[in-house]
Amino acid sequence: MITLRSFVGGAWAAGAGPLDTLVNPATEEGLARAGSGGVDRAAALDFARAKGGPALRAMSFAERGALLKAMADAFTAHRNELLDLSVTSGGNTRSDAKFDVDGATFTLAAYAEIGKGLGEARFLVDGEGVTLGRSPRFHGQHVAVPRHGVAVHINAFNFPAWGFAEKAAVALLAGVPVITKPATSSSILTHRMVEILVEKQVLPAGALSLLVGGVGDLLEHVGPQDVVAFTGSGETGTKIRALGSIIRNSVRVNVEADSLNAAVLGPDVEPGSETWHYALKDVLRDMTQKAGQKCTAIRRILIQGGVAVRFRDDLVDRLKAMTVGNPADESVRMGPLATAGQLQDVRGGVEKLAADGRAAFGSAAPLAGAGAPPGKGFFISPVLLEVAPGAAAPAVHTHEVFGPVATLVPYSGEAGAAAEIVARGSGGLVSSVYSEDPAFTSDVVLGLAPYHGRVFLGTAKIAELSPGPGTVLPQLVHGGPGRAGGGEELGGIRGLAFYLQRVALEGAKPMVERIAGIKGGETR
Ligand code: NAP
Repeated sequence: MITLRSFVGGAWAAGAGPLDTLVNPATEEGLARAGSGGVDRAAALDFARAKGGPALRAMSFAERGALLKAMADAFTAHRNELLDLSVTSGGNTRSDAKFDVDGATFTLAAYAEIGKGLGEARFLVDGEGVTLGRSPRFHGQHVAVPRHGVAVHINAFNFPAWGFAEKAAVALLAGVPVITKPATSSSILTHRMVEILVEKQVLPAGALSLLVGGVGDLLEHVGPQDVVAFTGSGETGTKIRALGSIIRNSVRVNVEADSLNAAVLGPDVEPGSETWHYALKDVLRDMTQKAGQKCTAIRRILIQGGVAVRFRDDLVDRLKAMTVGNPADESVRMGPLATAGQLQDVRGGVEKLAADGRAAFGSAAPLAGAGAPPGKGFFISPVLLEVAPGAAAPAVHTHEVFGPVATLVPYSGEAGAAAEIVARGSGGLVSSVYSEDPAFTSDVVLGLAPYHGRVFLGTAKIAELSPGPGTVLPQLVHGGPGRAGGGEELGGIRGLAFYLQRVALEGAKPMVERIAGIKGGETR
């Protein structure tokens, strides 16, 4: 069994004191030990600020983009090893593993391209300049420059590769060094990825540090130039926001938290039609991909009352064909949950939701996984619940069960009613509308938009092109209001704003434009 270490201050540091044991969730075989006792977090932040920040800020966007490209290339060179590790350490099928690992590489490559496009500049010019007085000589121009702090990234257990890379790509391109802290339970994959980057010396000293194990006092040492980007439960996000160091220093915090994502089927969608099958495919994928441990997974399916039974039966037929078990076995289509704690939470959550309706498929009962040692593994069946038409179903609209669980919610078929029901989720990452009727789609989308970071329009025209609502694309924003944490990440160049300080330059036009690098071919 290996012992994971943190990479701080430009060196590997073993954690002292009690260590957690990380296991294969399908077999419960021990894989690694991890802990962060004794790791000097204050010194880690200082090193990143003193070494990594200046090195990155001295580079142009194109040069920082080249670093991201080198990161992507390094992971591609180790792709099979990383996929294998994702299967054994995360309970992922090979397809789930690709979703995480290839998603990481793809996002890094996408931001590398953005960096290339931004060229020799080292900061961003924000919008057009403005004349401020009677004469055009008195001029204003906004620019956005890299902050002189550290980007502290705290990630959830479900995407140890993508979660690490999507945050790091944006911060590094902005010119801000990163300390990444994966969830302890799945940190073995992030640890290996950082190890690869260190072995290949891909990044300048201090640009990327890794804290493996509990967060400890890391956030007590953040200062006014630092930022914290967190992905995980709403409960932990609330604790982070309330920390004295965060409040006192006005530290920017981005929270990506829970979400009760919905799929709305329009009344125009006939059973058996192309759009019907498209919706079924997306719902099935979201329920079972990564055993439903995906923040963007569809949790609520709104379907017109008259066809709800048919949709349920079609979905149940597909769920029946799903083999749950050890993903090392090639016949397995859905792996276990990531940890024993997750299994316990999901079981409790299913019981809570079941109080609102009834189970149409599956249950929270213990399940033997195909190809797993008897009595071992954190397996659960996919669970489809259904509520009665018009039922208030309070738990369904307020409690996120982070597993292969979704609920059918019959509705009247009216756009306003659908939007009202979805909004009971109090803010989400993404919801989708499956309909070929532009008037219905438009009404639902405008009703959903204030409550979401992204709305997915499922029409047959994109069925062959789109990976579905559950996939976060680097070009589009990821985040959402309310329950989803109120954060926003990615969105192409938009994502850089979190790491940059916008500043208005106000003065004589030639001076302002020279500093902003607008005239005379000056590099910024
Ligand atoms: P979690 O328990 O909140 O943990 C998330 C991260 O926070 C882990 O790295 C954890 O470290 C760390 N942490 C725990 N206590 C902390 C504290 N007091 N201060 C600072 N950091 C602390 O969440 P999770 O169980 O890993 O993830 C599941 C949740 O994440 C679900 O609710 C899901 O909806 C949400 N999620 C959201 C998104 C999104 O993009 N919106 C994506 C994925 C998941 P340790 O592991 O060392 O405890």
